[in-house]
Amino acid sequence: MGRPTSVLHTVSPSTVTHFTPQPTPIALTVPPQVTPRFPAPPRIPPLSSPARPHPTPVPFPALPSSSLAMPPVYTARASPYVCPMQQLPTSIQRLLQEDLRPEPPTSARVNGFDSHFHLDRMIDHIASKGDYFPRTPSVVKLVGGVVNFCDPLTFKRALKLLPLLSHYHVAVGVHPKKVPDLNESSFQKLECLLACPRVAAISELGIDHTVPSADLIPPQWNFVRRLLSRGCRNQVLVLHLRPAGRDPCGHHLHGPFRDLLRQFCGEHQHIHLHNFSGDLPELQEWMAAFKNVYAGVSGLALQFNPAQVHMIRNIPSTRLLLETDSPYLPVIPGLPINTPYLLEDVGRLVSRIRDEDFREVMRVTAHNAQVLYSGFAGLTVA
Ligand SMILES: [Zn+2]
Ligand SMILES: [Zn+2]
Repeated sequence: MGRPTSVLHTVSPSTVTHFTPQPTPIALTVPPQVTPRFPAPPRIPPLSSPARPHPTPVPFPALPSSSLAMPPVYTARASPYVCPMQQLPTSIQRLLQEDLRPEPPTSARVNGFDSHFHLDRMIDHIASKGDYFPRTPSVVKLVGGVVNFCDPLTFKRALKLLPLLSHYHVAVGVHPKKVPDLNESSFQKLECLLACPRVAAISELGIDHTVPSADLIPPQWNFVRRLLSRGCRNQVLVLHLRPAGRDPCGHHLHGPFRDLLRQFCGEHQHIHLHNFSGDLPELQEWMAAFKNVYAGVSGLALQFNPAQVHMIRNIPSTRLLLETDSPYLPVIPGLPINTPYLLEDVGRLVSRIRDEDFREVMRVTAHNAQVLYSGFAGLTVA
């Protein structure tokens, strides 16, 4: 089929020339002293010109050997923002890599959730005392835990360890005894860590009277106010409240701290009373003030007075948590370091105090911790 003929080609050229206007020529001369603002665009060859051959590609010159240092390709494991796993102590590697792996259900083991431990301090303890392998086999299968970072001087390390903790919940804050270590730089790192969606809780928020000077107490209150004023919605508050020795149940401390929290938090605030050492009336005050209060028990219970033991016996089973507070507070004296693998010891201690079946204590506390730290605690109204 031939190419269709254009209508224009059917018009006689003599007809067209009759109507051709004669435009007045416009002088477009540019004064020679004026420099054009932009360089002239490259001249586009007319369509009718013959196609030019493609230029022969110039081979990319070989890089000299000295310039082969290309920017590294970062992966999850190779990023400078991730702590190299092989640099960690063996038992920590095992904790992070192996222990939470799913395994076939067996009646010989029972689930356990360590609601409070300090990974960075465990690493430091291992570095100074040597790696420690807990007794094996344990009947407890760790199914989760809450890693706490609360030392301003190690926030940089926390930033690097965080990507390795995909199986754990993470809490970040400043321990009351570490408030003097805080400066604006570490406060910025704290803000950065708290902004991470993986951080489920504010760690070790509270007051600790076991400091050498009473002058250190007002800065602790100031820090608590400053942190609360930035907002804590959707994050669990892990409260560390250590009273003065004259009042082991902490009546002088718990009431004022609750009053402060009421100024910043609603009644549905999720609260983990970590290592709670108050008596039963104090626990009841907490549960009346806030609807999502959970109480953690650790090896510290070995030092409790009768009123505090009575409190442990009366923690509602739906609000009971187990903590090792590793690397501190091993239940069995003489151990060089406590680890989450020794959660079984805490479970057996609580089972004895409450006169409840050990396996039931482990099951209930693992469930409670998962409800609290996975964000489902507020979905039920008592
Ligand atoms: Zn604490
Ligand atoms: Zn702690």
